[in-house]
Amino acid sequence: MKKIAAAPRLQDLFIFDAHCDTACVLFDKSVSFARNPAHLDLRKIKKGGLQAQIFALWVDPVLAPHRALKKALRLLDTMEQKVFAPGYAVKVTSPAEMSVALEQKKFAAWLFLEGGHIIENSPEILHVFYSLGVRGMTLTHSKNTDWADSTTDTPRAKGLTALGRQIVRQMAHMGMAIDVSHASDQTIAHVLETTPVAIMASHSNARKLCPIPRNLTDEFIRAIAARRGFVGVNFCPAFVKRRVFDQIEANFAKFTKEMEDRTKGKLDDPEFLSQIEWEYFLRSVAGTAPVGLDDVIDHIAHIAATGGIDCVGLGSDFDGIPSTPTGLRNAAAYPALIIALQKRGFHEKEIRKICGLNLKNFLGRVLPAGRKSAGQ
Ligand SMILES: [Zn+2]
Repeated sequence: MKKIAAAPRLQDLFIFDAHCDTACVLFDKSVSFARNPAHLDLRKIKKGGLQAQIFALWVDPVLAPHRALKKALRLLDTMEQKVFAPGYAVKVTSPAEMSVALEQKKFAAWLFLEGGHIIENSPEILHVFYSLGVRGMTLTHSKNTDWADSTTDTPRAKGLTALGRQIVRQMAHMGMAIDVSHASDQTIAHVLETTPVAIMASHSNARKLCPIPRNLTDEFIRAIAARRGFVGVNFCPAFVKRRVFDQIEANFAKFTKEMEDRTKGKLDDPEFLSQIEWEYFLRSVAGTAPVGLDDVIDHIAHIAATGGIDCVGLGSDFDGIPSTPTGLRNAAAYPALIIALQKRGFHEKEIRKICGLNLKNFLGRVLPAGRKSAGQ
């Protein structure tokens, strides 16, 4: 039994989260980053002590093949206009830039792509995003790309195709984080075969505790940890507890007919289809079993026990999940998470690693320190 250590003082604790979909909230709604009703805004960040965040530029695969790139660029522009231009955060592209931002007491924001379909099978487009400051990419989202299978689609390539392996090698070479959240087991296995670099699962949980394909097996947790990679724990109740996942699936299925009626004659409007799907996903959460902060800590503890304390961190998925655990409602709730970690017996050094240092160190290994964004 570990003894309970003194809680780290919040102002001293570096909190750095690996995944949120706030860019989509800012794009979809006429709301400000300073203050909005969603999970993450400036007010909540300050209250929660969050100092750095990876912002996903998520594009629904329904927009593939020809509208996804444009959407990603518009999301990037949304971040520029609503977050960086007003000075709410500093866009950072290297650990050195993040250190400078933090020294100046600025909120540090990283940009990642979520969904390999965005790059339209083009290593050149991936390079353009690198030049625009993007420093990571989730290989797939909920659907297969032409070069990588998703964990929530019917296997097609049975992992990575030759192009997929080329893209993975290119990412390793450029210094772009390879993110395997959403990727199928075969895709993850192929990534591990293709490159020896450290990789991440920015927002994935332990399959041992919540047996769904979207979560990581212990074998993959160990393989990611063995190469000094990173696993960010996702707060989505459906990925924390299997019971919640099943309830949402069952509820969603009840809406099939209603969704078909509403989308009739509009199947050529992917933006509309995406909106409708999200609306019913939100409705499917009603009545599901509550998930608590301790259930999230279970995943952190399991990943730490399986892969070691240096591989685990936070991948909240705030603003991308239809509900949140009790006690972890938004980015203002990080102090409660810290107390819960402490109660579980993690000591200060371990809490510091989980809350931000592991992610920072992972990026330091993957992205050359001080590398400038353009042309390299
Ligand atoms: Zn995701």
